[in-house]
Amino acid sequence: MSRLVVVSNRVGPVKDAARAGGLAVALVDALRARGGLWYGWSGKTDKRSADHASIEETDNLTLATVDLTPREYKDYYNGFANRCLWPLFHYRIDLTAFDRSYYEGYRRVNAKFAHVLYPLLRADDTIWVHDYHFLAFGDELRQMGATQPMGFFLHIPFPAREVLAALPHHDAMVRGLFAYDVLGFQTERDCERFRDYVVREAHGIADGDTLHCFGRSVVIRAFPIGIDTEGFARIAAEDKDACRQYDKVTKALAGRTQIVGVDRLDYTKGIAERFHAYERLLQEYPDARRQVSYLQIAATSRGDVLEYRQMRDELDGLSGHINGTYGDVDWTPLRYLNKPLPRRTLAGLYRASKIGLVTPLRDGMNLVAKEYVAAQDPEDPGVLILSRFAGASYQMPEATIVNPYDTKEVADALQIARYMSLQERRERFEALMKRLKVEDVARWRDDFLSTLAAVPRRRPISAAS
Ligand code: UDP
Repeated sequence: MSRLVVVSNRVGPVKDAARAGGLAVALVDALRARGGLWYGWSGKTDKRSADHASIEETDNLTLATVDLTPREYKDYYNGFANRCLWPLFHYRIDLTAFDRSYYEGYRRVNAKFAHVLYPLLRADDTIWVHDYHFLAFGDELRQMGATQPMGFFLHIPFPAREVLAALPHHDAMVRGLFAYDVLGFQTERDCERFRDYVVREAHGIADGDTLHCFGRSVVIRAFPIGIDTEGFARIAAEDKDACRQYDKVTKALAGRTQIVGVDRLDYTKGIAERFHAYERLLQEYPDARRQVSYLQIAATSRGDVLEYRQMRDELDGLSGHINGTYGDVDWTPLRYLNKPLPRRTLAGLYRASKIGLVTPLRDGMNLVAKEYVAAQDPEDPGVLILSRFAGASYQMPEATIVNPYDTKEVADALQIARYMSLQERRERFEALMKRLKVEDVARWRDDFLSTLAAVPRRRPISAAS
């Protein structure tokens, strides 16, 4: 088996992959089995521009990382990746900050990563590149002469053609993707949108799951990412920390129904809309007052980006308003935490919550939805309320599917979930779990790698030529 080279913005963790979750474990397992190399940003900035990687060997696996300069961090990471691609691919053109220096920085950093990796490659390597930070990386590597099989997986949604067209240089971005041999997306819908762009905007030709354009061909396919379903279910049921958390919360709830939301603090997650929907539940269904308790974990992320700070202020105001209006001396309707919690703690919290509220406005997949279901007690499972705009909704039709913009619909779904019969909850849970067990993270990884292995080896032609 050829060596596997994984390229992603952040590398690892390797030693404590289990704590980080299914994706890290799945990648580390594959890398270990194939004596692999994991390559990416070190997470550090240094004024001197790096021209080589720092190498660390840890049992049968090599980590190679590169520092960014503060300017590269600003233009490539905070700028083009997180203020252009992230909002645009999540349909938030209004939050997109187009700036030529961001784009140039992004291209430069993609080229730098390719230049540093190239001398570390072996002729028979298989290269798997991850996510929106590295759309142009494959093209840069091909221009240097790399002929190895190279696949790309996009973890976030691929936007509709007309939304993508709002991005300056969208044509160069898509052209660059044709340097890869396989393009993996989270859902069939993402594949359709990519195909639509290529056929209608770039005049490519679709032939089954192969697209021909720019003098090259690429296989496109959906590989919905999963979790380690059985492992997470075991943690929720048996792990010491998870059980302690479950007991503590159940006691504190004193018979109330807990609604749980767990997200990174991000404007794509629809947390403000969710707060409005919860307020509507309390307004329109007075019997819910004092009987429910909503816990929202919103782990701060990207705190140095303006839009994230503004959103945090908005949520602080909304949560204060809800508690001030509906709370009582012995009842806090909404508990809103800005700190990240370990996954074992989350497993206990999910299990103690009779309703999981997962309502992103747009999400590539959403693993929290899958974790919530996996953590439930099969004898008395909770109800998942899931946004139709999360990639997970296509694999989880037995959840209560809602439009997150429609606060009335979400409030009604919460009320229905409060009274859902045990039989209905069990039927939904069993159908969801059956699929989650099959379509887990190991299957995602193996499907992607076997698709890449089946693609015939290509001649070294640059997509940009
Ligand atoms: N997570 C965590 N601690 C927290 C909040 C989230 O470990 O306090 C984990 C969560 O368990 C899930 C991941 O972060 O595995 C979030 O993945 P998801 O696909 O839901 O959203 P993303 O953050 O990737 O957009």
